[in-house]
Amino acid sequence: KNLPSVSILSTGGTISSKVDYRTGGVYADYTASDFLIMCPELRDIANINAHKAMSLMSEDMLPRDWIGMAKIIENEIKKKVDGIVVTHGTDTLHFSTAALSFMLEEFNIPIIFTGSQRSIDRGSSDAFFNLSCAVKAAAQSDIAEVMTCMHGTSNDDYCLLIRGTKVRKMHTSRRDAFRPINETALAKVYPDKIEILNQEYKKTDRMNKSKV
Ligand code: GLU
Repeated sequence: KNLPSVSILSTGGTISSKVDYRTGGVYADYTASDFLIMCPELRDIANINAHKAMSLMSEDMLPRDWIGMAKIIENEIKKKVDGIVVTHGTDTLHFSTAALSFMLEEFNIPIIFTGSQRSIDRGSSDAFFNLSCAVKAAAQSDIAEVMTCMHGTSNDDYCLLIRGTKVRKMHTSRRDAFRPINETALAKVYPDKIEILNQEYKKTDRMNKSKV
């Protein structure tokens, strides 16, 4: 299909988790290719390559994991994809986006981190909306920054794209826990459109490409 190309890289967290009904706990088991099976409509937004980068709960991530992530993301950038989505545990997601914002230098595509507050195997999971907004923004937005894409409200209205150095998790369980600090979000991502809220951002060269 003549659609933009997006890589989804999974690193673990609740978005990759299954509930263990014996203990009530969750463990990170699903990977990026499972997301495509569980959420096939992602393929209507972009041609997707899905890879597992790691399987960690984000509280277990160490600075060496940011280095690993940066290398994997750089590899995807070299493949000339139109955008990258990284799925990640929510507890340290904003530390990873800040670190990666400083570590990744040469790129002109959207690099979007997303996650979920409820595991993807629950009907009430926020994973599907977050993933589809993230893939839409990776495929269609012209913002060449490291960002988060998470629910903007507690309903499935829109997600907020927030700059990776300005985002913070403000609540343990709310869907709309990720908020910008000291600046507005960059954009709202609706199922049918992207609304830019803040014009101060680094732009992709997408408009110069024939296929978008
Ligand atoms: N603490 C886990 C993590 O950050 C689960 C939290 C989540 O992903 O929402 O990976």
